Amino acid sequence: MENKFYNDRVTYDSDYDPRFAPRFAEIATFLRAPHQLSLEGLDIGIAGVPFDGGATNRVGTRHGPRAVRDLSSLMRATHHVFRINPFELGNIADVGDVRFDSLFDNSIAEQNIVEFYQRFRAADVTPLSIGGDHSITYAILKGLIAEKPVGLVHIDAHTDTLGPIQGTRFHHGSPFRNAIEDGLIDPKRMVQIGIRGAHNVFEAWDFCKAHGVRIIFIEEFDEIGVKRAVEISREIVGDRPTYVSFDIDALDPSIAPGTGTPEAGGLTMREAQGLVRGLRGLNLIGADVVEVAPPFDPGTNTALCGATMLYELLCILAESRAQRGAAQRGPGG
Ligand code: MN
Ligand code: MN
Repeated sequence: MENKFYNDRVTYDSDYDPRFAPRFAEIATFLRAPHQLSLEGLDIGIAGVPFDGGATNRVGTRHGPRAVRDLSSLMRATHHVFRINPFELGNIADVGDVRFDSLFDNSIAEQNIVEFYQRFRAADVTPLSIGGDHSITYAILKGLIAEKPVGLVHIDAHTDTLGPIQGTRFHHGSPFRNAIEDGLIDPKRMVQIGIRGAHNVFEAWDFCKAHGVRIIFIEEFDEIGVKRAVEISREIVGDRPTYVSFDIDALDPSIAPGTGTPEAGGLTMREAQGLVRGLRGLNLIGADVVEVAPPFDPGTNTALCGATMLYELLCILAESRAQRGAAQRGPGG
């Protein structure tokens, strides 16, 4: 029997859309988006950053992008709450991974990430990224932000505002201290949700406090819930440009064990989804999911959670981008 697909020329950049392939088949891409290395014509580029040279404890997040690509084949296109399909709101592609000139020199790796995201800024493409450890977010912001500091919604077990370790600034405990010190993030427009655990130290909390960062520790979150945490976050970041960073260790390790610095007593997936959905309509310039470490993820549930959060973030990014486009065109345009 003749197979009607057998003689088709299948290319990701022309007549083939992996969203309509069987979920288990073909080369895995983020959320089954078409693969396109060029940023040309895109609204949103989904990129992998397979780097874990900034991890202070157990490593493995270099395998995060591949695992999330695989598990994200389970995501559907339609958001059942928003009733939108992000792929109908803009041109979205998996733009591959950051390429590293050195596996062994972190300062070269940092520069490679910065240059990768400078391309997004130049092409006016909104980035959605998958780490990699959390150090990558500092390099992403460095590449992406040219002038004024932006707001930040940061969901994590840790504040990630430590100073240098062994003389090195570029590590996964420091991205937001670095970003504040470099004027990339406005600390008064920054909120951190889910913070907890003995891996945190007073030095990092004191830095946040001294700079006016709003921390919602997990205990306060328990008291106020998703709805109030969303209200507080929206008040803090306002309607100016804002970035969203989601560290998978914000989730409880019972559902997301595959990460480098797990902290017991974390968020549920429903809470995490509620927090991200609550950011709908904000002026969003990019987002990331970091710290998925497949070597510690035997059931692949962490990668599934990562893929699910990636999809939630894609929906609010695509809506925000479409709204900005409409505002720029003006009424009737
Ligand atoms: Mn983090
Ligand atoms: Mn963390």
